[in-house]
Amino acid sequence: MKGVVVLAVVAAAAALLYAGLCAVRPLGACHRCDGAGVRPARPLPVGPRWLRRMFTLPPRPCRRCKGTGRRVRVGRRAYDAAMRLRAAGTRHDEQAVKP
Ligand SMILES: [Zn+2]
Repeated sequence: MKGVVVLAVVAAAAALLYAGLCAVRPLGACHRCDGAGVRPARPLPVGPRWLRRMFTLPPRPCRRCKGTGRRVRVGRRAYDAAMRLRAAGTRHDEQAVKP
């Protein structure tokens, strides 16, 4: 029973830390290119081994992050989605509804 409480406290602390991280730094490094923004040069995909060893395809901008090297954190995306949902479901025309 004590272990469950400790686990819950640790999980809550981790969630709080992650929420703070998402608030302070909403962008993290791209997982695909590790924040570099480019995919490294790679050997030719076809041809005999001696040819593939001689030539490489040039480095290209990362398609996942479109060359920025950044991505929006999952927690921040969830927060933004929740805020969008809240804005969509909340009245903004205060003047129209006067009791
Ligand atoms: Zn990337």
